[in-house]
Amino acid sequence: MNFHEMDTREVEETLNANRHDGMTEEDAQKRLKQFGYNELEEGEKQSALLLFFSQFKDFMTLVLLAATLISGLLGEYIDAIAIIAIVLINGLLGFFQERKAEKSLSALKELSAPQVIALRDGEWKKISSKEVVVGDLLKFISGDRIGADVRIMESNNLEIEESALTGESLPVSKTASPIKTENPGIGDMENMAFMGTMVTRGNGVGIVVGTGMKTAMGQIADLLQSAESMTTPLQRRLEQLGKILIVVALLLTVLVVAIGVLQGQELYTMFLAGVSLAVAAIPEGLPAIVTVALSLGVQRMIKQKAIVRKLPAVETLGCASVICSDKTGTLTQNKMTVTHIWSGGSEWTIDGVGYAPKGHFYKRENRIEPKNDKALQQMLIFGMLCNNAEIKQKKDEIIIDGDPTEGALLVAGMKAGYDRTHLLNQYEIINEFPFDSTRKMMSIIVKDHTGRRFIVTKGAPDILANISDTILWNGKRQIVSKESTAHIQGAIEDLASQALRTIAIGYKEISASTVILDEKEAEKNLTFIGLQGMIDPPRSEVRSAVKECKAAGIKTVMITGDHVITAKAIAKQLGILTKSSKVMDGKTLSGMDMEELEAHVEEVSVFARVSPEHKLKIVKALQNRGHIVAMTGDGINDAPAIKAADIGIAMGITGTDVAKEASSLILLDDNFATIKSAIKEGRNIYENIRKFVRYLLASNVGEILVMLFAMIMALPLPLVPIQILWVNLVTDGLPAMALGLDRPEEDVMKRKPRNPKEGIFSRGLGWKVVSRGFLIGIVTLLAFIFAYDGDPEKLAYAQTVAFATLVLAQLIHVFDCRSEKSVFARNPFGNKYLVGAVISSLLLMLVVIYWEPLQPIFHTIPIVPRDWLMIVGLSAVPTFLLGFTYLARKTK
Ligand code: ATP
Repeated sequence: MNFHEMDTREVEETLNANRHDGMTEEDAQKRLKQFGYNELEEGEKQSALLLFFSQFKDFMTLVLLAATLISGLLGEYIDAIAIIAIVLINGLLGFFQERKAEKSLSALKELSAPQVIALRDGEWKKISSKEVVVGDLLKFISGDRIGADVRIMESNNLEIEESALTGESLPVSKTASPIKTENPGIGDMENMAFMGTMVTRGNGVGIVVGTGMKTAMGQIADLLQSAESMTTPLQRRLEQLGKILIVVALLLTVLVVAIGVLQGQELYTMFLAGVSLAVAAIPEGLPAIVTVALSLGVQRMIKQKAIVRKLPAVETLGCASVICSDKTGTLTQNKMTVTHIWSGGSEWTIDGVGYAPKGHFYKRENRIEPKNDKALQQMLIFGMLCNNAEIKQKKDEIIIDGDPTEGALLVAGMKAGYDRTHLLNQYEIINEFPFDSTRKMMSIIVKDHTGRRFIVTKGAPDILANISDTILWNGKRQIVSKESTAHIQGAIEDLASQALRTIAIGYKEISASTVILDEKEAEKNLTFIGLQGMIDPPRSEVRSAVKECKAAGIKTVMITGDHVITAKAIAKQLGILTKSSKVMDGKTLSGMDMEELEAHVEEVSVFARVSPEHKLKIVKALQNRGHIVAMTGDGINDAPAIKAADIGIAMGITGTDVAKEASSLILLDDNFATIKSAIKEGRNIYENIRKFVRYLLASNVGEILVMLFAMIMALPLPLVPIQILWVNLVTDGLPAMALGLDRPEEDVMKRKPRNPKEGIFSRGLGWKVVSRGFLIGIVTLLAFIFAYDGDPEKLAYAQTVAFATLVLAQLIHVFDCRSEKSVFARNPFGNKYLVGAVISSLLLMLVVIYWEPLQPIFHTIPIVPRDWLMIVGLSAVPTFLLGFTYLARKTK
């Protein structure tokens, strides 16, 4: 259908759509069922069966299976079946771990899926872009990504960048008028907007004409299967480490086998023991456990309202040394209320709470009737006209749909008894130049009922004052003088120093014939009318979050478009600006080259009156000084800085699609305190990964060493293959998973940020792995030697004792792994998953030792309490020996 040729009414009729009420939810659901979701088809996913089989493709597992097959053929049925069962259970475990990891990753994707604003049942609602159907009316503003192919019905200086489709990076102006060109290309269809393209300016409304694969983007969807990096640097490092460990484990195994054979062991027995040892010693489950720990951590972050879009950010979070945060909405509540108005030397105050349009006006503390004062009247009416927000009642609450700054202006006007809908009967808005945070202004052209035309501008007062050549003073226009400029300046500073956000309003009359093409022409030679000052209270939780960050070695920097004095006042309240830190404004920043900025950037904790473009410069300067920078943003112009930052953070509520796409973390509640929680969680996840890497590797070192030492000493095998495999499955697997769920140590936010370059074994981890592993190996061997006592009759008994000692030593050691310091540093029962895992591993060990049917399978023999005394004593040594040395050092 050639929608671009039709006029808007025809489009509506053809699609059976209703421009005023939009689609009913019921119809939308029907169309959704009939035509499917508005999604681009993705590549094939790995099937469950394939995923299951892929668990066994590991080389050593294949060798083990082959060896088992041989032993089965040789008549060792029980061993063969038991080994195969264990390998299968191991495979299943791996399968579920990977499944879980995969599921939580796709749940993550779903959470950060794009949303659109659609007209449903007469109301503009935020819906998932997946649910958009043909005939839906969509509203979009600068920074949005278009959710489907739409025919434009309204355009307010709408410009769209379509490079994803056309390759042309310059934005195209869009209109609502029909196009009669024959066979226009995508780039020529100026009344159409296409899925995936980006609004760079203005706003508009469009009606959906194509969804999913039936869009222009759908036709080239195959080309767009872009894969986000979903592995983290640590995962990649662990993968490399895994490869090294395979080689080391194999070499050691070969050594064990060779020495064993030389010492007169049977080749076949040694072969099976060797392969089992290799399977046990290779931490093949590590990557899956890491993924699970990461994704469970990510889910904990979601509960705290932070969505990780790119998994590597989880790790980088723990390294952050500076957080650059927007002020409005992130550090403050973004709940604005106008409390002061200034015009021509007079000042009024307004009372009332929140967005409720109830309040009174006062002049020098005397209540007045606002409609009797012309200047005040003009301030309020213009503030309501140059405005795109709406006040809505939602259940018992009054909410603002749109920019809260504009909402506050509406509420102020309503308190004086004005109504925007009524005003729009008297004033017709002919054109609008939308707000952007670089200009810091917004303007409209209006025609009043007598036909006179005005440009009305509202924006940052210092900027408005600069483009005004007259000022309204006692109802008369006067040329701006030094004196009046000083008055304006004084008023701005007075309001700002009370932490108020200030908006100035100005206007000029133009003739009907004057053509104003762009904002540059509109926003000059204005008459300055006055200021409105609004409070935006700081979020209550921010002050303590800033303090906590400071203790964690993380500096908080406020970056705001707001006035220097307002920013300063709020930064002081929040503890961001201290005696030792400085404020820098956008002008000073612009005047500095990179070198100069780098020299000063670390002293500054407030950047005020800056433009989004400045943010990139700040990120770069901080990074050049060696910082790991987290940077927040919401607008389209923030995207480059968000992308360049080590952790780009977008706002979930106020953020544009473009900012969200550039980010690696989204704050669902736009709250600074959430960044702190995410950093804490990021640090915790990393520490948890270190914990189970340490546990698994120390266990493996212990297992290999006990075998190696026994062979060197010409002893028989201290553990039989099935016991080794069992230890690998039960004793290693479960507690390691539980360590991944551990809570952070108390001082996790009192440590300095981690150096991103540090290796996994740094901060003593390598030493801990080797020393604990060595001791675990030694005590197991000792237990074996004592029990064996050189008597071949006692072999099975001694193997059982060794098996119990190894298991117990590991299960005690796991509590040591919870802390960087020692087993005594934390309450050992603080992690209920771990306690559960340890108890179940212990019970399973007892079952294997004491349940008769399992004894022939696991080659175990029931042991007596006296044995347990030795086992418990020996297995406590590795953990407590080093724990006591810690205590001794501490008491010194
Ligand atoms: P942040 O602190 O999150 O960077 P901000 O709200 O302080 O954001 P901007 O949104 O860039 O920064 O606003 C800068 C200035 O522009 C404000 O101090 C205000 O004077 C003015 N301003 C803000 N919103 C509007 C608007 N909708 N129309 C006109 N002027 C506005």
